[in-house]
Amino acid sequence: MLRDERLEDISDGRRYGINDLVKADAGGCKGCSKCCEIMTDTIILSPIDIYRIEKETNKSFNDMLDVNIELGMVDGLILPHVKTNKNGCNFLSEDKRCTIHGNRPDFCRLFPLGRLYEEDGFSYILQVGQCDKPLTKVKVKKWIDTPELKEHEAYVLLWHKIIRKMGQKALEASEEERKSIVMSLLNEFYMTPFGDFYPEFIERARKYETE
Ligand code: SF4
Ligand code: SF4
Repeated sequence: MLRDERLEDISDGRRYGINDLVKADAGGCKGCSKCCEIMTDTIILSPIDIYRIEKETNKSFNDMLDVNIELGMVDGLILPHVKTNKNGCNFLSEDKRCTIHGNRPDFCRLFPLGRLYEEDGFSYILQVGQCDKPLTKVKVKKWIDTPELKEHEAYVLLWHKIIRKMGQKALEASEEERKSIVMSLLNEFYMTPFGDFYPEFIERARKYETE
């Protein structure tokens, strides 16, 4: 998520589509795990991140809570993020490898790319000053390595709209209503497991779209 930042201050100023070439490839990071070591509570997890990590670790949302993930305030809502320990991300092994690589969160999949949401869509941006290694060009869709990319992008946009709308509602609501909004989102999209993710997400999202 990007907010209150000028595009040119945090990126190379360009917007990229999935077929564009972008200087983002750190060559497999060979021997470096700096990003995973210095991260704080910035890796906010969307429902598909939890769905994937549950599959990878064979743990439920509740099993992971306070062990692998934590809850934090984000724009009026309470959402999960990756938990850190003294070595950085708790999913980083002693030999500095990501133990959930195949199902790593979207944030990690994109890095050093990010998303810029505008009007009714989003584009990819290249965040600058994030990686010290020389980066080479790669196609955005190859870099983000995301299965079912079309469905995934539609999901990303829909989720973004829901949390913006519900976050705004929560900020304007009474304490009691705010708690109800927060708990409803957590129950609906995180604590209740998904089977076939994308169609089930769309079904569950319906009532929040029209609320
Ligand atoms: S700093 Fe660059 S090379 Fe090191 S882990 Fe991050 S992206 Fe990879
Ligand atoms: S989930 Fe994996 S890639 Fe992401 S910060 Fe943790 S160790 Fe690094």
